[in-house]
Amino acid sequence: MNAASGSLIHELRPKIIERRERLRAAAHSVSAEYVNDLLVEIDATLQKIDNGSFGLCETCHDPIEADRLECNPLLRFCLDHLTEKQLRAHEQDLELATQIQTRLLPARDITTRDWETHYRYQPAGVVGGDYCEIIASGDGQSLFFAVGDVAGKGVAASLLMTHLSAIFRSLVSLDLPLTEMMSRANRLFCESTAPAHYATLVCGRATASGVELCNAGHCRPLLLQRDATQRLDPTGLPLGLFCGGQYAVRQFTLGAGESLALYSDGITEALDPVGEEYQEERLIHSLRVHFEHGAGAMADSVLQDVVRFRQTRPPVDDMTLLIVRRRR
Ligand SMILES: [Zn+2]
Repeated sequence: MNAASGSLIHELRPKIIERRERLRAAAHSVSAEYVNDLLVEIDATLQKIDNGSFGLCETCHDPIEADRLECNPLLRFCLDHLTEKQLRAHEQDLELATQIQTRLLPARDITTRDWETHYRYQPAGVVGGDYCEIIASGDGQSLFFAVGDVAGKGVAASLLMTHLSAIFRSLVSLDLPLTEMMSRANRLFCESTAPAHYATLVCGRATASGVELCNAGHCRPLLLQRDATQRLDPTGLPLGLFCGGQYAVRQFTLGAGESLALYSDGITEALDPVGEEYQEERLIHSLRVHFEHGAGAMADSVLQDVVRFRQTRPPVDDMTLLIVRRRR
């Protein structure tokens, strides 16, 4: 029985065969030795599919990480058993992915006349699959913000996150209504990624008259009013599941000092040493304790509280928290 799922193999096998044909067709343009080495690799992979050992590390015989295999079906070793040279190449990839990702994070503490923002972004590994965006319009009249979570982990998830970022940055510049922006983002994401890829995402636009919010299957944003907290349910399915997805918009107003908190499930699903989850209730409590102290204090208090809660347990997922607070 192959380590990789039947559907993945079903998808990969014709691609591998196509690669072999392309290689043969291009053989005259590269060295014969190089072509030969690659052909040997390709044939060995096809043979593994046939004899049921595809996707197993040749050293430890454990399954190779599925996201890596999907990107490169010719892989022969799991991350723990790379050769010195492969390990160096992998580290360089991670480093580059980290740089790309860091440059995509919004500036700290973006404010407009009516709104202030603060975010914290903590990937569980070297790179993250969470998406965090804040874009103020040129005239400072409106503020676009988003928090998303791409399914999967590692470099593959972080690259999808950069893809999501590129899609939204392009769409924001078109100044479309929020539901239109979300439907288009969904379509683009759907058409340009593998069927198994999807992302949950909540985005909004804040202006002098209030806030509009669209939630594609992401954890419920919290509306922190002076004397009440509202949890805002999703208004559509995650991005990338169905190309024809539709998204409703929710509108509300906030008074001065009131805020909206967007976060990823790395916070609410953080685990303590006995396996209990942090959960929404504790997040709300943590945010409310610092309600009067501003968005930065709220964000910091939550992350400190999650660290206290986890104690010795290491984080398993990326954590993102974005606070959008009405200034006046
Ligand atoms: Zn291994």
